[in-house]
Amino acid sequence: RAKAEGRGTIRFFEPGMEAEAQRLRRTEADLRTALEQGELTVVYQPQRDLSDGRVRSVEALVRWRHPTRGLLMPDAFIPVAESSGLIHQLGKWVLDEACRQVRAWRDQGLDLRVSINVSAAEARCDGVLEALDQAFAAYDLHRTDVEVELTETLLVDPTDKPMAALLAGLQTRGVRVALDDFGTGYSSLGYLKDLPIDTIKIDRTFIAGTDTRDGRILLEAMIDLGQKLGKRIIAEGVETEEQLDWLKGTGCDAVQGFRIARPLPPELIPRDAS
Ligand code: C2E
Ligand code: MG
Ligand code: MG
Ligand code: MG
Repeated sequence: RAKAEGRGTIRFFEPGMEAEAQRLRRTEADLRTALEQGELTVVYQPQRDLSDGRVRSVEALVRWRHPTRGLLMPDAFIPVAESSGLIHQLGKWVLDEACRQVRAWRDQGLDLRVSINVSAAEARCDGVLEALDQAFAAYDLHRTDVEVELTETLLVDPTDKPMAALLAGLQTRGVRVALDDFGTGYSSLGYLKDLPIDTIKIDRTFIAGTDTRDGRILLEAMIDLGQKLGKRIIAEGVETEEQLDWLKGTGCDAVQGFRIARPLPPELIPRDAS
């Protein structure tokens, strides 16, 4: 009887877990093909300077035109790319594509810098610096044309040698570093003075908080802190006119979000952007 129950239990859990494991394997196999067949694309979200309303930089965001599942957002495949190791190939492809696009825009008279997201798994291997050097040479770009976005959680461990090496490598090259999703990493703020970070991107959850007094106090303090440390400050996820108006009265340098522009294919980036 116990045996029967045991089997019953297994049967109860098995289908779901098996299906999930199978879905992951499938996504991994599909992603491998996608990289070979050119199913990935990059869209670009404008970052508008509040000083004069101009767009001088864009963030590169990867998309996957899946043959049967439609357009997939990064959350649906970046985790699989990370766990399977395909993230290195994916990251390299995005980096090269974004740099190629900066060159293409420049040749059309459009002067834009690009921000590229680098995830934890990628940061822990040498590939990023190498890929950057290759792209700078291939597309004849300046080091300052590219900014690398790292999340706060990546920076919190001071004994993390690979991360320290990446930061040092970026710093010697003169490649700017942005701290993505600032405020969500539950970390000590000490790294703000110790690490070579140029830009702070305040996470959109804090921007959404501008509708309450406490939310505004917190955001003001974050902007003030970043400003006093000499960082460029970008507000992420600006969705409403009210948020935008409020941010204009602060020391925030630039804004990014659906209120300014959605992530766009490169040909739709406004010609008067810069
Ligand atoms: P992120 O770097 O924080 O990028 C901002 C995300 O917020 C993007 O989602 C963007 O479409 C979305 N967003 C922009 N404005 C608004 C807004 O006003 N409201 C709301 N609700 N959302 C807004 P997306 O493109 O789905 O990317 C999600 C995350 O995936 C990114 O977060 C980034 O961490 C990661 N990611 C995207 N592209 C790449 C890539 O090429 N490589 C790596 N490693 N990660 C990537
Ligand atoms: Mg980002
Ligand atoms: Mg972010
Ligand atoms: Mg994020």
